[in-house]
Amino acid sequence: MRIRKVAIVGAGTMGCSIAENIGEKGFTVFLVDRTDELVEDAKCRVELSLNKRLEKWGITEAEKRVTLSRIRFTSKLDDVTTCDLVIEAVQEDPDVKKKILSDLDKLCHPQTILASNTSTLSITELAAATLRPERVIGLHFLSPVTRVEVVEIVRGLKSSEETFEAVKRFVKSLDKVGVEIHDSPGFVTTRLITPLLNQAMNALMEGVASASDIDTAIRLGFGLPRGPLEMADRMGLDTVLTSMEGLFRDLGDFSYRPCPLLRKLVRAGHLGVKTGQGFFKYDEEGNLIKEEENLVYQGAKG
Ligand code: NAD
Repeated sequence: MRIRKVAIVGAGTMGCSIAENIGEKGFTVFLVDRTDELVEDAKCRVELSLNKRLEKWGITEAEKRVTLSRIRFTSKLDDVTTCDLVIEAVQEDPDVKKKILSDLDKLCHPQTILASNTSTLSITELAAATLRPERVIGLHFLSPVTRVEVVEIVRGLKSSEETFEAVKRFVKSLDKVGVEIHDSPGFVTTRLITPLLNQAMNALMEGVASASDIDTAIRLGFGLPRGPLEMADRMGLDTVLTSMEGLFRDLGDFSYRPCPLLRKLVRAGHLGVKTGQGFFKYDEEGNLIKEEENLVYQGAKG
């Protein structure tokens, strides 16, 4: 089976980034969210991301236009019924994901592959919400999708070989490296990065160093593009908290017990880049505002 037409359900941080990447690689892609307002927001977000890449000479004006023209922004789930692959990218809530997969199962052509971008949930369990578990698989893209080269391809217990091979070819056509994963909490990437994020937050809460110094030490010390606190801000602190809670529940390992400071920020509505403030402050285009770097550390001590 060859994947030509793709849809993404959930136009948040990940849905927009996945749509941008798939669109620029030449595929027609439907991007669905619940309301026309959310769909309009998503369009602005994709345009903003393309504009930033244009400013940095990463793409041309023509490439920007052609990518946008391949993305169909819609609030109607019915629009995706004829797609070869539908990727759900709604928030990390098993009930919401199961409901969407079950609805898609009823709506879509029997051959359609249903994928989940979940970071922590069991693909086997999500697949059980459908009558086509052999055509359900995990496709874990990482943020920002246009820059991160790897995608975890997660086999559920019943995912068929044909499904795995079709999705593997699709990932390759996006110029990405697909890593084969057997269903397990947090797969490889989330399982390994989450304790680092959590320890950075604990170190900040305990006053070991400022937010800015923690990030600088890890970024330069280990050659990472970003420090762990900024990484968490860019992932969305609500998403990080939900992932940690799930991994703590499933693995019973205390390295996943969410740092109280993370809970405090989420309760305050400081969700990172998407709300303009998390461990650091960000401008409307998502750029870090340097002079505000120690804001949360001082707040946590006060
Ligand atoms: P988000 O909260 O930014 O976006 C979720 C979107 O889903 C929202 O726009 C919401 O309106 C939409 N949605 C909810 N119910 C819907 C419905 N019934 N129909 C259509 N749209 C609906 O979440 P996110 O950070 O983009 O995460 C999405 C998924 O990707 C999660 O499973 C998360 O674990 C995973 N993930 C996130 C990251 C990251 O860095 N944020 C990285 C890899 C994987």
